[in-house]
Amino acid sequence: MKIKNIHQVSRRKFIGLTATAAIGSGITGFVPGIVPAAAKAISIREAINFIIKSVPVAPISNTVDTVKAGNPDQLLKGMVTTTFATIDVIEKAASLGANLIIVHEPVFYNHRDETDWLHQDKVFEYKQQFIKKTGVVIWRFHDYWHSEKPDAVLAGVLQMLGWQKFAEPGNEHIIHLTGATLGSILKEVKEKLGVSTVKAIGIPGESCEKILLMPGAAGGSAQITAIEKEQPDLLICGELQEWETSEYIRDARSKGDKIALMVLGHAVSEEPGMINLVSWLTPKFPGIAITHIASHSPFTWY
Ligand SMILES: [Zn+2]
Repeated sequence: MKIKNIHQVSRRKFIGLTATAAIGSGITGFVPGIVPAAAKAISIREAINFIIKSVPVAPISNTVDTVKAGNPDQLLKGMVTTTFATIDVIEKAASLGANLIIVHEPVFYNHRDETDWLHQDKVFEYKQQFIKKTGVVIWRFHDYWHSEKPDAVLAGVLQMLGWQKFAEPGNEHIIHLTGATLGSILKEVKEKLGVSTVKAIGIPGESCEKILLMPGAAGGSAQITAIEKEQPDLLICGELQEWETSEYIRDARSKGDKIALMVLGHAVSEEPGMINLVSWLTPKFPGIAITHIASHSPFTWY
């Protein structure tokens, strides 16, 4: 439901803007309110500016959504969306001929992609050189995508799970699944998100009808505060610090509270939002190939 809203708005906006763009033919580069596809060729910088202006809350000050690597003044050839710009994702993007990777999470291992502390680090150097060799530009699209109403990442996850109709309107983090158990939800989520294993606290037979869904890494205090406020039967999160939320849940269960936990993994939990981004971008950039490449979990569960 909410997903459709995002796409409907985008499509309406696109149709309106396309008409304007056609009238203003011969325009090269970015003109506010005009789809850059009206121009024959645009730079990556112009494409990024256009994407930002397409988000209602723009501009966001002090955002982490900045260019992390590469030269954005080159012409846009193709785009890839992903959750993490791993070496594997960068290599695949380059082999597809894409030169803009739109990534949800940091490239260099910390939220703000600060790199001074990595100055002498060989892995950091290797990744930088690898990016340089491919010539791709990596731009983060995190704050803007989460600022959509409803949150576009959460909407992507709900869509992939088929849970839009069970989410509370206006508070889509809360989902009501009548008659569900931890076991039934584990089975459903693993199937629909295409993962073979997840971490959990709880027993399969316990009833879990009220779900708190928090993709990504909200942090211990945000997760614990939300549990206290919403009193869900189950928290499904992307990742957590083991000494924070999972220990809180262990204590809560000892106290007698009815609260279970499912940890999906960060990349797995937010990838649906970057899959969703492809259909949001496609009508804005006709003629440009836009592909999603999954980052996948870095872990193997033995
Ligand atoms: Zn996120």
